Amino acid sequence: MLCILMSLFSCRAYKPKTGEASELAMGTICSIRVYDGYNRNAVNQVFSRLNEITVTMSANDEGTVLDRLNRAAGIAAIQLPDDLFYVISSAIHYAELSNSAFNPAIGPLVKLWNIGMDDERIPLLSEIDEVLPFMDYHDIQIDGIARTAFLAKKGMALDLGAIVKGYAADQASSILKSGGVKAAIIDLGGNILVMGKKPDGKAWNVGVQNPYDSRGSYIGIIAAEPDTSIVTSGIYERYFLGDDGEHYHHILDGKTGYPIQNGLVSTTIVCASSIDADALSTTLFTMGLEDGMALAESLEGVEAIFIAEPRVVYLSSGLPKVFTLTDASFTLGQ
Ligand code: AMP
Ligand code: MG
Repeated sequence: MLCILMSLFSCRAYKPKTGEASELAMGTICSIRVYDGYNRNAVNQVFSRLNEITVTMSANDEGTVLDRLNRAAGIAAIQLPDDLFYVISSAIHYAELSNSAFNPAIGPLVKLWNIGMDDERIPLLSEIDEVLPFMDYHDIQIDGIARTAFLAKKGMALDLGAIVKGYAADQASSILKSGGVKAAIIDLGGNILVMGKKPDGKAWNVGVQNPYDSRGSYIGIIAAEPDTSIVTSGIYERYFLGDDGEHYHHILDGKTGYPIQNGLVSTTIVCASSIDADALSTTLFTMGLEDGMALAESLEGVEAIFIAEPRVVYLSSGLPKVFTLTDASFTLGQ
C-alpha cells in the first residue's frame, strides 16, 4: 500500500524541466539557465537572436548596420531596422534625462581610448580636442516615419555599448517566454534578468558584484521579484593601468574626454526592463552619487545601489527591504 501511495505521489509531484547553455556572444560569455519549462529550441533561438543583434548594433565590427550609419556620418541618412531604431531612440532618451552625461554619440572618444582592446592607450590631448566637437547627441537626427537616422557631422559615431546588452536580455526573455520557458536566469556577461517565478516560490537571490574582487564574488544579495533585471556598471569591468600608474576605465566623460572620476566605483540598477537597467546603470554612474540617486528616486519601479570610495554602499529608498549586505568590509552610507 505504501508503495502504491508513493508511486502515485511521485507521478503527481511536479518536476520542473531544467537545462542550461552558455556561448560566447556579444563579446562576452552569455548563459541561460532554465529552472522550469526548459526548451532547447527556444534557448538556441536566443543565441541566434544575440548574434543577429551584434550584427546589427555592434560599433566594433565592420559591416554592421550601426557601422554603416557611422560611416555615413555627414553624408547620408540610413534606413534602420526597427530594433536598432528603438535602441537609438532609447539611448537618446537617456541622454536627455542626464543632460548628455549618458551619451550615445561618444563613439569617436571610445575608439580613441579603445579600452579593452589590444591597442588601448592614453590618447594625446590634441587627439581628444579633435573629437570633442563631434559628440553632441543633438546632432543625431532620427525620423520616426521614414525610420532613418542621420549623423549630422562627418566624424560622428554612435556607440551603443552601454545599452545593447540590456535590450538583448529583454529579447532573450521574450523568446524564452514564447517558447514555454517559465523560469530562467539570463546572464549576458553580468547583465542579469531573472525571468518568471522561481519554482520553489521563493525570491531569486542575485549577488551584487564586489567591484574590488574577481567576477562572481559579491558584496551583498538582492532578493529579486519575478521578471527583474539587475545590471551593474563599474570602473573594474574594462580598464587598463597606464604607465603613469593610473587606472583608466571605460565609462568616459564626453566633456573632458577622460574616464569619469567622481568617487563612484560602481552602480547597480534593479528594475523590470533590462534595457532600462543597462542604460540607467551607465547613466547614474556618469551623473555621480547625488544627481544619480535623485534620478533613481524620481523613476517609478527603479532602485539603485551605488558603491563609492572608500567601500561605502548607498541604497535607494526601496532597496533596504530586499538587499542584504553580506561583506562586512563595506559599510552602508546614509
Ligand atoms: P556599461 O558597461 O553598460 O556601463 O557601458 C559602458 C560602455 O558604454 C563603454 O564600454 C562604451 O562603449 C560606452 N560608453 C562609455 N562612456 C559612455 C557614456 N558617457 N555614455 C554612454 N555610453 C558610454
Ligand atoms: Mg549600461
